[in-house]
Amino acid sequence: MTDPKAIALIAHDQKKDDLAEFARSHQPALSRFPIVATGTTGERITAACPGLEVRRLKSGPLGGDQQIGALIATGDISLVIFFVDPLTAMPHDVDVKALMRLAIVYDIPMALNRATAETLLKAVS
Ligand code: PGA
Repeated sequence: MTDPKAIALIAHDQKKDDLAEFARSHQPALSRFPIVATGTTGERITAACPGLEVRRLKSGPLGGDQQIGALIATGDISLVIFFVDPLTAMPHDVDVKALMRLAIVYDIPMALNRATAETLLKAVS
């Protein structure tokens, strides 16, 4: 188990620009935690914040959301920031639901939009 526990970052395609910008704005706060991200999101965050160390998992539709769920189950995640696109149907919607379910089961704070992410990141900083 890592200490401090990791922050997980995920964004659907239409929200990746927003999350990259969020990460750039909050790089000093994020850099105090291990960061894990789904594949493409992690790539975008690394490009936006070259100084930030990001552990990239599989792409979401290929199992990355489930990998983050597994890290929640093993107690390695302290906060999930998931910028969700509410306007597009996703082939991996069941995986996203499963991730949300595990965040609820393990009582892990989970931000689904920027306003909540700002609030939660301030709270853990
Ligand atoms: P991605 O996955 O970062 O690999 O695009 C995110 C998702 O859509 O779940």
